[in-house]
Amino acid sequence: MKKTSSKKGPLYMVGMDSVPLWVLEELKDEKGMRPFRKLLSQNCIKNMESTLPPMTGPAWPSIYTGLEPKDHGVPDFFVMKKSYTPDIVYYDSSKVPPFWKELAHHGVRCLVITPATDITLPDYDNIDMITGFPLKARTNSKDMEQLMKEHGFDGEPNIEKDIKAGKMDVEEASGRFAKSVRARSEIAISMLKKKQYGFTYVCFTETDRLQHFVMNKNKWKSYLLPVYTEIAKYIEHVTDKIDKEGGRLVIVSDHGTQSISKKFLLNNWLMQNGYLDLKEKTKNEFLKESGKEASAGYAVREKIMKSGLRGAYDKMPYHAKRAAYRVFGAVFSGAASAKYTRMHLFDFDMKRTKAFAAISNDPVASIWVNDSRFATPIVKGNRERLVRELKEKLSKVESLDGKQMFVNIYDGKNYYKDTKKFIASDLLVEAREGYTVDIFNFSKSSMFMDPEDAKSGDHIRNGIFGTYPKVADTGVDAVTEVKGFVLKYFGAYR
Ligand SMILES: [Zn+2]
Repeated sequence: MKKTSSKKGPLYMVGMDSVPLWVLEELKDEKGMRPFRKLLSQNCIKNMESTLPPMTGPAWPSIYTGLEPKDHGVPDFFVMKKSYTPDIVYYDSSKVPPFWKELAHHGVRCLVITPATDITLPDYDNIDMITGFPLKARTNSKDMEQLMKEHGFDGEPNIEKDIKAGKMDVEEASGRFAKSVRARSEIAISMLKKKQYGFTYVCFTETDRLQHFVMNKNKWKSYLLPVYTEIAKYIEHVTDKIDKEGGRLVIVSDHGTQSISKKFLLNNWLMQNGYLDLKEKTKNEFLKESGKEASAGYAVREKIMKSGLRGAYDKMPYHAKRAAYRVFGAVFSGAASAKYTRMHLFDFDMKRTKAFAAISNDPVASIWVNDSRFATPIVKGNRERLVRELKEKLSKVESLDGKQMFVNIYDGKNYYKDTKKFIASDLLVEAREGYTVDIFNFSKSSMFMDPEDAKSGDHIRNGIFGTYPKVADTGVDAVTEVKGFVLKYFGAYR
C-alpha cells in the first residue's frame, strides 16, 4: 500500500445520517442545493441497502467494518438481556476496528470528524479525530481542539428533549442543527488546509435527528434546507478541490427516511392474539379501571416517571402513590382522556408471554420468542412452530387501507445466524410505506395510532452510496460493502 494516500489522490468520505435518494431528488432544485444537483444529474448517487433494522446503531458500524450486526455485535441501540431488560450497547471500535485504522496502519494519514457511533479515540498518531454521536465530542488533535473552541462546537446539539417538550420549535432546531453542521465543515476545511490527508471522513447525523420531527409536516422541505445546504457547501468545497488536485468523493448514508402517517401497535397485536400477557397488577390497576378505554392512572404514572416529580414519587409508600395519582392527575391535565395506555417490558407477565416485541421502535421491528435464552422461558422446543405461526398471522394483518401491513417478515435465525454476541430477535417485521411500528402503546379498540411529533418521520431501508468523479460500477449495494470499496481504492487488493 502506498504511503499517505492512494496514487489516485485523497479519498474524501461524507457521511449523512438518514438521507435517501428521494429526499435529495425532492430538494435538488432548491436554492443552495447545486452541489447535490450536479451529482444527481451525473448519476453519481445510488441506493444502498441498510442493516435490519435500518438504524444508525448497527448500520454505521457495518459501513466501517464490512461486518453484519451479528459479527460487529451491535444489532440496535440496545440489546436484550436474559432478565428481559434492554441494555445499552455501543460500537466498540477498539475491538472491531473501523477501516480507517487499517488505512492508518498502512501509513495513510486520516482526518475523521464525528463518525456516527464511533465514540473512541484511536491509538494511531496519524489519525486526527473528533469522536462521534451520541456522546460528547472529544479530540486527539491540538489543532482541532482549538478549532472546536473557535466554532463553539463540543458535539452535535442535544436538543431533542427540548423539541419534544415544546420548548424549541422545529424552525429553531433546524437552525441549531445547521449551525453545528457548519462548524464541523469549517473545522474540516481548516484542517485540510493545514495538513495533507490521504483519507478524510466527516459525518453529520443532524439530518436524521431533524427529520424525525418534520417529515410529515407540510413545510418539511423548508425545515431541512438549512441543514442540507450547509452539507452542500462542504461537498462543493471538496469537489472543487478534487477538480483541481485529484482524488475522489464518496457520499454515504446509513439508511433513509420517510413521512409517517400511522403507527402499528405491535405488542398490542401480540397481546390481543394471545402471545403476550400483562401482569395481573398492571391489568387490574390500569386496564380494568371502571371499564374505561385506557387507564388514566397509568397515563399519569407515565407522566410522573418522565417529570421532575419522579424523585419524590419513588420515595412514597405504595398507598401514597395511589393518592398521588389523583393529585398529579389534576396537574397533568389531559392525561385522563388518553385512549392509549403505555406499557413497558416490566409490565409483561413473562410466565404467560410466548413472544414480545422490544427495543426497535422503527418501521422494522424485532420480536423475541420467550425461550431458554431468557429467565422465565415458556416456549420449550417448539420455537420453529411458533415462528411459523407468527409469520403466517402477521402476513395477514392489514393496514388501515386494507393492504398488507407487513411487506417483509424475516426469520432472525437467518439474519443473525447463531451469533454469540447478543440474544438475537426471532422475527424482523417490516411495515409498509407510511407506517412505523410502536411497541409501547396499548388500546382495546385500535391497532393504530397517530405518530407523535418525534415520529413525524422514520426510517426506510435504502440509504445511499455516491462517488465523484463517478465510478461506473462501485460494487457497493449494501452497507457491508463500503469498506471493500475504500480498501480497494487504496490498493489493498492489488
Ligand atoms: Zn441513522
